[in-house]
Amino acid sequence: MYEEIGKLSPTRQAGMLSAAEALIAFTVSAIVYLIFFGVDENFWNVMTMAFLVPWVICVPANLYVTKQRRIYIETAEELKKTQEMLEQVNIDLQRRANIDGLTGLANREHFIQLFDERRMKSENNVLMIVDADHFKNINDGYGHPVGDKALVLLSSVFKRILRRDDLVGRIGGEEFGILLPSTSEAEGEIIGEMIRHEIENTLFEPQEGVPHRMTVSIGLTGVSPQEERAVPMRNADSALFEAKRRGRNRCVLYTAGMREKPRPMYENGNVQGPVRMRA
Ligand code: GH3
Ligand code: MG
Ligand code: MG
Repeated sequence: MYEEIGKLSPTRQAGMLSAAEALIAFTVSAIVYLIFFGVDENFWNVMTMAFLVPWVICVPANLYVTKQRRIYIETAEELKKTQEMLEQVNIDLQRRANIDGLTGLANREHFIQLFDERRMKSENNVLMIVDADHFKNINDGYGHPVGDKALVLLSSVFKRILRRDDLVGRIGGEEFGILLPSTSEAEGEIIGEMIRHEIENTLFEPQEGVPHRMTVSIGLTGVSPQEERAVPMRNADSALFEAKRRGRNRCVLYTAGMREKPRPMYENGNVQGPVRMRA
């Protein structure tokens, strides 16, 4: 009932309020007058005044009050809408801060944050670092935009193969991190091999009718919750170097001692090799 009245225009609301007040004033005046004087010759004159005077005072006052109330309600509604909009903008900003714009995967910072959270939940996890082989050749041969398409294609393979709980992120230019929670090293090797095989067999056409065989090298290692983050990161990175050293397009599990091996010299003269993981 009150809500219905609230929807009326300020003028109507003021009219209804004034009528109610005039009625109350009239009734109270009539009762008081009857108690003290009974129905005498002045009764109807007084009652007319008792009914009319409130209208003169109440109508402008109520009009003012109802208009102010309407302004207040509209301002509150606008504030609520602005607040909702800001919350949405905040969610979008948060998303953009976490997501790699090209591939839609978690970016490096977000990957590391989620990696730290998720590896705590299980004793056995696997970390993989996947690095595209000779990616520079794609950029040099076909241009940077085609290189971008190749990165999107790689990310689509990850999304297709990985399970719902697996975590994947773009941690470098053409380098991806994958965390397989609750997974043994043996299972991790199988999944890594599936990824490698799928990428090798996914058709990539930099130009129409010109297929390009894309391959990746994968370094993987077991991850336990107790370890410092830097340990599995370095181990997976060392295994990745080993995969590159053994000729690329392969998946290598980290074994003790791998880290101490000297840096490989690549056949293309690239002494730096893939981007090193910063833990
Ligand atoms: P390797 O097999 O040793 O890993 O060789 P590589 O050519 O893949 O490695 P290198 O580190 O020499 O080159 C990586 C290239 O990836 C160089 C860089 O221009 C390219 N790259 C990095 N980020 C992007 C990107 O966002 N888009 C494109 N198109 N290229 C990128
Ligand atoms: Mg590479
Ligand atoms: Mg690299």
